[in-house]
Amino acid sequence: MVNRLKTLYELQQIDDQLDELEELRGDLPNAVQALEDKMNSIKNQVTEKDSKRKESLEKREENEEEIEKLKANQKKFKAQLYQVRNNKEYDALTKEIDHTEEQVTKLETENDALADQSKTLADDIEILKPQLDELNDELKIKQADLKEIIKANEKEESKLRTQRKEIEAQTKKPDYSAYMRIRKAKKGKAVVTIKRSACSGCHNIVPSQRQLEIRRNSRLFFCEYCGRILVSPEIAELTED
Ligand SMILES: [Zn+2]
Repeated sequence: MVNRLKTLYELQQIDDQLDELEELRGDLPNAVQALEDKMNSIKNQVTEKDSKRKESLEKREENEEEIEKLKANQKKFKAQLYQVRNNKEYDALTKEIDHTEEQVTKLETENDALADQSKTLADDIEILKPQLDELNDELKIKQADLKEIIKANEKEESKLRTQRKEIEAQTKKPDYSAYMRIRKAKKGKAVVTIKRSACSGCHNIVPSQRQLEIRRNSRLFFCEYCGRILVSPEIAELTED
């Protein structure tokens, strides 16, 4: 049982050191992530606007071709006007000419709107691109800062990670789950000792009868106030040896 408690205490010691290294990074990892997210969102906007602009251009070209065809037809109809033999034929042709004219006007109006849309999209892209450059500069600086901090503690961190793996392997599965659960809930400290008769996690006094029980190191005790695992000062001393 002593070993089981000692293992948990050791795990906490290592995680404390890893937490300290993590703290050195400060807000940088979050800042890098936020910048990357922002850049991706802008990149997506640019891609979307660019493809819309291409679609609009293709549609305009299609319409242009259609207008050419309609105008050619119209020319043909107008020429045929001179060869009509009766009013019925004349009316039919005039109707065709008018209809073609309407179609041409409709397509030309559509193309004007598409050209306006293209212009707006191009303007939007022009505004977004410098933003992307600016964010990228900022990202590079933050990434470099973070890399420097990580590099400075690389060896220590990798040593701690190896130690942690070994200790984790020695920890009983339910103990480890409890440890991780409390650690998450308490944002760090899951295993604490008794200092001056109090839980060193929440500073509430541990009743003396309970203190005696804890000193026997015969089972896992949880602080009745904060829920952390309470170990005796002897366990802590054993670990520090
Ligand atoms: Zn407590």
